[in-house]
Amino acid sequence: CGIVGVVGNRNATDILLQGLEKLEYRGYDSAGIFVTDDSGKANLVKSVGRIADLEAKTGDNVTGTAGIGHTRWATHGKPTEDNAHPHTSTSGRFVLVHNGVIENFSEIREEYLANDTFKGQTDTEVAVHLIAKFAEEDGLSVLEAFKKALSIIEGSYAFALMDAEDADVIYVAKNKSPLLIGLGKGYNMVCSDAMAMIRETSEFMEIHDKELVILTKDKAEVMDYEGNTVERQSYTAELDL
Ligand code: GLU
Repeated sequence: CGIVGVVGNRNATDILLQGLEKLEYRGYDSAGIFVTDDSGKANLVKSVGRIADLEAKTGDNVTGTAGIGHTRWATHGKPTEDNAHPHTSTSGRFVLVHNGVIENFSEIREEYLANDTFKGQTDTEVAVHLIAKFAEEDGLSVLEAFKKALSIIEGSYAFALMDAEDADVIYVAKNKSPLLIGLGKGYNMVCSDAMAMIRETSEFMEIHDKELVILTKDKAEVMDYEGNTVERQSYTAELDL
């Protein structure tokens, strides 16, 4: 239902939780965050129910400079903690949040992931296992693995992907689900709804369908699925808080 992500010189936990609160009005059944930093410390917290419950569960020990968060409106699999996002690969290295519906997830599971064990029933978990397979088994770079997965996945999605071994990058892609970039000084954000970023920045950048973004603290590199660079101007939005 809602996505928020941040990378850079900010307190990621606070920004994600505040962003998720701003997305609450859209409705959701569960929520979760993944937060990490350069020391390799990784935290995954998920909870069924309110953002306030997720916040209580998160506590003060979850700190980092990069992360992704999600409010879920279940389409595949019951609203349980296992089915809440972020979803992880078996190794735990790849972490994904997703809005939308992957139409061909059972075909993907049968064709590519027949030997994998899944923690839940979501379409999303299949996507993160697919990316991990291409990176870990086939040896592709994260970007190439993501691109290959995107060429196979059909349906609607806003994705924010992280590699737990590299806290400096968030990989983003969208098709038929809302997602936009927020630009800050020393940090950048991604979100399904400008409302969740408006406290942090008023400079935004659109993402079009079937585009991919490599987001770092000082850059948002937009490209198509073939890897061709897309030039995109940012714009300043005056929104009421
Ligand atoms: N299809 C995904 C799920 O059921 C994402 C739902 C959403 O957009 O929140 O987990």
